[in-house]
Amino acid sequence: MKKKFRMTKQRQMILSIIRNTDCHPTADWVYQEARKEIPGISLGTVYRNLQLLVKEQEILELTSSGKFSRFDGNIDPHYHFICTGCGGVKDMKMKALNILNEEVQAAAPGKIEGHRLEFLGMCNDCLNQGCQGNNN
Ligand SMILES: [Zn+2]
Ligand SMILES: [Zn+2]
Repeated sequence: MKKKFRMTKQRQMILSIIRNTDCHPTADWVYQEARKEIPGISLGTVYRNLQLLVKEQEILELTSSGKFSRFDGNIDPHYHFICTGCGGVKDMKMKALNILNEEVQAAAPGKIEGHRLEFLGMCNDCLNQGCQGNNN
């Protein structure tokens, strides 16, 4: 029943844009890329398709990572590293700790089905740059 909804050409394209990057793009970034394929596409169409893809669990929406929602084509459980300097979101190169679900279950007000973790810090690019602003 997961594949019930109609995959339009636009949605297919938006999905492949997100699956082909690991930069966890914002809707705006996806829009810029989508315009290269379909010049007439509107930002509203991109937003609508992103929401549909999230609903169908084809992609993940990361809402707590800064001002804008970011989207992730990797729906396997994995952790994120969020840079407080540049706002970049990177995947952690480790497997999700499923044992955590069991550990936390006793304290949960319901049945745990999974978890998400975000680690905050400074990415290597920002560390190497020191504390200077990037272009001003
Ligand atoms: Zn950074
Ligand atoms: Zn990710």
